[in-house]
Amino acid sequence: MNAPRRRSLPITPNAAPIFEYKASVRHRIKCCLFWTTGAAQINPAPQAIQRASTILARHNLLLDICPGSTPVAPHILPFDRRIRAPANEEQEDRLALRQMAHQAHVHDGRIPVIIALCDAAIAWRGITPNGNLGGWLQFVTLNAEQQAPDGATMCHEMTHAAGNPSDWPTNPTDDYSKYRYVMINNLNDRNCLMRGDVLRYTAPCYFAEPG
Ligand SMILES: [Zn+2]
Ligand SMILES: [Zn+2]
Repeated sequence: MNAPRRRSLPITPNAAPIFEYKASVRHRIKCCLFWTTGAAQINPAPQAIQRASTILARHNLLLDICPGSTPVAPHILPFDRRIRAPANEEQEDRLALRQMAHQAHVHDGRIPVIIALCDAAIAWRGITPNGNLGGWLQFVTLNAEQQAPDGATMCHEMTHAAGNPSDWPTNPTDDYSKYRYVMINNLNDRNCLMRGDVLRYTAPCYFAEPG
């Protein structure tokens, strides 16, 4: 990751507006879910959708999912193995899946969220490319068997895809953890974005629209 990471944010009595900001105009945050054949059997989508909907709703953002939480034919990609672990192969597989999503179903204006089985050596729960995008707009890949216990992995990755490059420090005893910010990596009950995520990234991103 090239961008500098935030080390801390001083939490003062005035911090609540940073974490409890509501967009003045509601925006629909539009996704299109895809499953590899194996991931469709496991399907972590119901929990991921529920958690992302809850987080976004706090900020007057409405999660708009095509097709919903149940895998249906045009959204199941004919990829019957696991994403490979070596970096080059991993990227190659993710880009191949992105191409399959393009061919499977028209989803302009929606971010593809691709749920896949991954080699056991892959450490990520979800990944948003920050290197070679293969010419695509940002998209998300989720590791079907390694979702965070709170189900917030999809929302976390969508926030990266909207433009926020940062993960927060992981110490759950830090003051700001009481806000349960979604970009903290190791929390089990994340439930909000920051004002900057709403204003600078999510509301203006390519997969959002007022309404
Ligand atoms: Zn769709
Ligand atoms: Zn992250």
